[in-house]
Amino acid sequence: MSDPHYDIILAGGGVAGLTLAHYLVNSPLRDRSILIVDEEVKDRNDVTLSFWADRPTPFDDIVYRAWDAFNIVSDGGYVRTLDLRQYRYKTIRGIDFYYYIQQALAALPNVTMRLGTVDRVEDRGDHAAIVVEGQTFTGGWVFDSLFEITRFAPDTTRYRALQQHFKGLEIETATPHFDPALPTFFDFRTPQEGELRFYYVLPYSERHALIEYVVLSRTKYEQDLREHIADVMGIKDYITLNEEGGISPLTNYPFRRRAGRRIMNIGIKGGMIQPSTGYAFIRILDDSAAIIASLLRHGHPFDVPSDSWFYRMCDWGCCRSWTGAARG
Ligand SMILES: Cc1cc2nc3c(=O)[nH]c(=O)nc-3n(C[C@H](O)[C@H](O)[C@H](O)COP(=O)(O)OP(=O)(O)OC[C@H]3O[C@@H](n4cnc5c(N)ncnc54)[C@H](O)[C@@H]3O)c2cc1C
Repeated sequence: MSDPHYDIILAGGGVAGLTLAHYLVNSPLRDRSILIVDEEVKDRNDVTLSFWADRPTPFDDIVYRAWDAFNIVSDGGYVRTLDLRQYRYKTIRGIDFYYYIQQALAALPNVTMRLGTVDRVEDRGDHAAIVVEGQTFTGGWVFDSLFEITRFAPDTTRYRALQQHFKGLEIETATPHFDPALPTFFDFRTPQEGELRFYYVLPYSERHALIEYVVLSRTKYEQDLREHIADVMGIKDYITLNEEGGISPLTNYPFRRRAGRRIMNIGIKGGMIQPSTGYAFIRILDDSAAIIASLLRHGHPFDVPSDSWFYRMCDWGCCRSWTGAARG
C-alpha cells in the first residue's frame, strides 16, 4: 500500500506552521491537500506574541491588547514614557492564535491535523516525506519548523550565537497596580551580571498583567521574577493565572531556507528570529505571504526575499553588542 500523499506538509504546527496554513487556505492554493503534524496539542497559552504594527495584519481580530505608548525604566528607577507615533504595539495570546487558526482549518475537508512526533524529514527528489512515529507521509512540499535549541550549535569562531531566555507570569493582583495604557518594555532594575537582562510588563487591566523576564543565560528565572514582582514592583498579593517561557536563538548564523529540493525551513528554523530583538512574528507573517507568492508565480516556494543589507548590518552590530554584553 502506498504512503498517504499530500500536496503540502507542515512539519510543526506552532506559530510558523499555523501561520503558513492560514495563508495557504486564504490564497488561490486553498484547495491543496495539507497535512499539519505537531507533537503537542496546542491548547495552552504557552507564548504571548507581541509586535509593532503600522499596518493591519490578518490576525487583528484576535489582538488581545494594543498600546500606543510605553515606559522604559532605568536601573535607578527613572521612568521615561515614549509615544509610538504611527505604530501600535499589539499583543496576541498564543492560545487565541492557535484556536483561531485551528478552528478555521478544522472546517476544511482538505486539511488534516495530526498529533505525533516527526522522526525525520526526507528529501526524495520529486517529492519529500516525513516519518511520524514510524509512519511515512509524502508531500509535494514539506515546510519544516521543527527547531531544537539544544541541537543548535553553530561554529562560534564564525558566528555569534546567544540564547534569549524568557520566563513570564500572568498575574492578577488584589489591588490596582498597573496603568492599562502603558506597558513597560524595558525595566532594567535588575543586576546585569555581565549580560543584558530586563523585565517587561504588558498591563491588561489595573489588576491583570503579564510580567516577563528576559536574560541571556540559564538562570533561576522564576525566583528572580517573583522577587522582582514582590521587592522591586512592590506587588505582594497576587495570584498566578498562567506561566510561559522558552528560549530563542539570537545569532547571525545564516539559517538555511532550502533544506532539499522539496523541503523549506520556516519559523525559527528558517531564521525568522531577528537577532537584534528576538521578535519573529511579523517576519513569519511576511515570510508566509512571500512563500505563497513564490508558489503561485514559480511553482516553488523558494523565491522569498532575504534581509536587506541594512538590516543584516544592524543585526550583525546588535549581535556583536548583545554578545559583548554577555561576555562582560
Ligand atoms: C516565551 C516566548 C515569547 C516570545 N514572544 C515573542 C513576541 O512577543 N513577539 C515575537 O515576534 N516573537 C516572540 N517569540 C519568538 C517567536 O515568535 C516564537 O518562538 C514562535 O513560536 C516561533 O515560531 P515557530 O513556529 O518557529 O516555533 P514554534 O511556535 O515553537 O513551533 C514549532 C512547533 O514544532 C513542534 N515540534 C517540535 N518538534 C517536533 C517533532 N519532532 N514532531 C512534531 N512536532 C514538533 C512544537 O510542538 C511546536 O508546536 C517568543 C518566543 C518565546 C519562547
